[in-house]
Amino acid sequence: MNTRFGYTGKILDVDLTAATLSEAELDPVLASDYMGGKGFGAKILYDQLPPGCEPLSAENILVFATGPLTGTLAPSSGRFEVCTKSPATGLWLDSNCGGYFGPELKFAGYDMLIIRGKAPEPTLLVIDDDKPQLASAADLWGVDTIATHRQIKADFGTDFKVACIGQAGEKGALIAGIISEYRALGRGGAGAVMGSKNLKAIAVRGSGGIALSDPDAFMKICRESFNELANNPDTGGGRQKYGTNVILSLMDETGLHPVRNFQKGKFEGADRVNEEAVEAYYVRNKACFGCPIYCSKIAEVKEGKYKGSFTEGPEYENVWSFGANCENVDVGAIIQAEYLCDYYGLDGISAGNVIGFLMECAEKGLLQESDIGFPMAFGNDESIINAIHLMGKREGPGKLWGQGVQKLAVGIDGAQDLAMHVKGLELPAYDPRGSSGMALAYATSDRGGCHLRSWPIGDELLATRDRMDLVSLEFKAELVKTQQDLFCMVNCSGMCLFATFAVTLKQITPFLYAATGLDVYSSSEEVMKIGERVNNLVRLFNLREGLTRDLDTLPRRFFREPLNEGPSRGRVVDLDQMMDEYYMVRGWDESGIPGEGKLEELGLESDQKP
Ligand code: SF4
Repeated sequence: MNTRFGYTGKILDVDLTAATLSEAELDPVLASDYMGGKGFGAKILYDQLPPGCEPLSAENILVFATGPLTGTLAPSSGRFEVCTKSPATGLWLDSNCGGYFGPELKFAGYDMLIIRGKAPEPTLLVIDDDKPQLASAADLWGVDTIATHRQIKADFGTDFKVACIGQAGEKGALIAGIISEYRALGRGGAGAVMGSKNLKAIAVRGSGGIALSDPDAFMKICRESFNELANNPDTGGGRQKYGTNVILSLMDETGLHPVRNFQKGKFEGADRVNEEAVEAYYVRNKACFGCPIYCSKIAEVKEGKYKGSFTEGPEYENVWSFGANCENVDVGAIIQAEYLCDYYGLDGISAGNVIGFLMECAEKGLLQESDIGFPMAFGNDESIINAIHLMGKREGPGKLWGQGVQKLAVGIDGAQDLAMHVKGLELPAYDPRGSSGMALAYATSDRGGCHLRSWPIGDELLATRDRMDLVSLEFKAELVKTQQDLFCMVNCSGMCLFATFAVTLKQITPFLYAATGLDVYSSSEEVMKIGERVNNLVRLFNLREGLTRDLDTLPRRFFREPLNEGPSRGRVVDLDQMMDEYYMVRGWDESGIPGEGKLEELGLESDQKP
């Protein structure tokens, strides 16, 4: 077995404490059993991270990992992962990102970066092909992410691709992400981990290529896949026109669009922030590396209070978090809010949740204007902008707000039930009372409240058209488990999840085989087993860090407060039956611990059991 094809075969290991950089060969077993991306991160962190390590200490490890398709001509394959222990949840964290950084890392000759320790001073890691070096970032510390990108490109060359943190990550905000070329590794506080290591940025430039095992077969599947993507109504139509906002009206019409910090499931102002309304601000399309879908957009505000604001987006999740969640209908403010999140290096979903939480606290009299410093009310766009500035700079009450809603609620009497998170990670833009599959997906997501481990809504809506119930409890355990393993495998491969709307497992498998030539990738069953193996290893990681069944749950609001209006009217979440079935189909016991049989089946030795 070799890793000559699909992979570069090399890892760069950086110890910031000792200021050493060393190269290692990629272990062929890592490639065949864990594929790449999230799989590489899971294996490295499970094997090497001391159990119970403090996420913001020098002991924590940051893994930047690509997959075997990253940087190839397979469509939408510019993705890479950052994996670490989350300071927001104290559990597993992986964040996936498109753009151009991942392919450039492979062109420089590395499948993965492992970052350890803590630099004594602000530091920049510069990788120029096989000549990596550490440099001072003293002049960049305190600088926003946009100016940081600009300065690094001015100093080293415009062809360098950058991943960096802003002031939020430097100052340890637990909702801080890493920004790469206007795209975000937003969720779970990876930016704070990078800041705790005094690592301001990584810049990479590469001139190499990626050898493929069977280039002719690979190109044949490429042609078929590009055709599938072009002819699919989502990837070749709606998503190209509207970006990720393509689903906004549908989510609102089906009662899945959370409003007023999840107090309502249908937004009266939806037509002012829906896909048509946001499209009016797009000035051009933008795509990640090798992507024919180009769901990214550049939006610009040409008039009004926010004239001059621009962003790459705004994405559906941020349109929701700064729109319906705060009952704001000013698209200009949403664009400005997303820009500011990128500027400071904040996660937009979490920032919008914090603001929605503060607005509800103010509405219910749990916080006064004097506690906040300015009016904080649903529908007030200036509240949103003011709050982001304070969180980004970690000034005044913004210092506490940047810790996320779970920690924030601890200090406010009566606010616990207003904090919309799972395991400490704020929820995204789907109300689980309208989708039982989404309720299970949130509750079982390995990194906390997340829609990217499984998104059963698509299947549920299609099923609804065949007169099956969107909120039925039947088959949801199998659906969520299968999607989690599929999405995990796709994240390991380097392909974008959105491509899988048109490119199926039947095409991803031959892509992987033609790229790598590894026997394990000749079978879709084996390829899916890698997704399942990685998910089980991450489960073991989380159990070792203290995860218990009672944390596989949702905010109490969803069990106790039925929605009063919209298509999800009268519904609450019923989780127990689905959770029992989910553990069963996973081969886990009633406490959510993987059984011996499952671990053996997946080749995870039983001594890894907590
Ligand atoms: S579909 Fe969108 S997010 Fe995915 S790779 Fe393409 S442009 Fe990037």
